[in-house]
Amino acid sequence: MTIQYRDYYETLGVSRSASQEEIRKVYRKLARKYHPDVNPGDKAAEEKFKDIQEAYAVLSDPEKRSRYDQLGANWQAGADFTPPPGWGGTRVDFGDVGDLGDLFGGGGAFSDFFQSIFGGFGGARARGRSSPRAASKGADVEAQIELSLEDVHRGCRPTLSLQTQSICQQCHGSGMMGRGRCMACNGLGRIAVPRRLTVNIAPGARDNSVVRLAGKGEKRTAAGPAGDLFLRVRIRKHPKFRITGTDDLRVEVPVTPWEAALGAKIPVPTLDGSIEVTVPEGTQGGANLRLRSQGLRRRDGSRGDLYIRIRIALPKKLTREEEALLRQLANISKFNPRSGN
Ligand SMILES: [Zn+2]
Repeated sequence: MTIQYRDYYETLGVSRSASQEEIRKVYRKLARKYHPDVNPGDKAAEEKFKDIQEAYAVLSDPEKRSRYDQLGANWQAGADFTPPPGWGGTRVDFGDVGDLGDLFGGGGAFSDFFQSIFGGFGGARARGRSSPRAASKGADVEAQIELSLEDVHRGCRPTLSLQTQSICQQCHGSGMMGRGRCMACNGLGRIAVPRRLTVNIAPGARDNSVVRLAGKGEKRTAAGPAGDLFLRVRIRKHPKFRITGTDDLRVEVPVTPWEAALGAKIPVPTLDGSIEVTVPEGTQGGANLRLRSQGLRRRDGSRGDLYIRIRIALPKKLTREEEALLRQLANISKFNPRSGN
């Protein structure tokens, strides 16, 4: 495929030394003249409008302009063009010129020449995931959401506050109002809008898992589909439970020495409330009891296990009676936990 050199200065009819202000003035005049709204059905005007937009996208941006200028001034418009060695693969920030693709319903609005220098659509869109092939589709949005263990266990419907880009309702995305720039969006065609969104998180999300909410991302054109919203889940630290593995929970439960020695029925917390658990006689400190299917709910509805770690707790202060009984026990007991040492 041959690429033809484009003379952006010639397109706008300005000199290579034109100031930003001069370029902007000329662009506005030309854009008004050739805007599709003013020339409905006029293909030639539409082509001209695209050329102007592209030229302006480059010359109005000091970084792009300087890159373009590096090609040198000796090229003729329409001449076969090959990018200098080492230019491929570099992408520069697109800024707001991405609108142009929307205006014409696809990525074809920029010339091959432009793409050979600046890397084409979607190169450095702020939020990344937007596909180069579907410029009219809204950008995907990534956000982080903090949930409790109970939330991911039961599922929840949190309300999020997001800042997203939306089409300007005043100019319908064109950036132009009548003969001038749209003041509502400052000519960008899009405005940042705070959005409150209630989302449905099914049971089974995990820390760092990503929940995709189709069609809840940004909308770039009225007709184009909205992007998706990707929510990265962070699970808040729980005062009682720790996650072990992916679906199991661990909870520490203190018992008295006599409960551990004699066995006892004790209340144990679970995510669904307290349940009664039998501690077998002779239970050691640090022992783990497993309660099947009392852990986190998985996507398929099944559940992980809950591990109860037994901690033997002593009273900080003994009553006289307790002390007397313990002395008696110490005197009669033959038990020596260090006998094997
Ligand atoms: Zn506007």
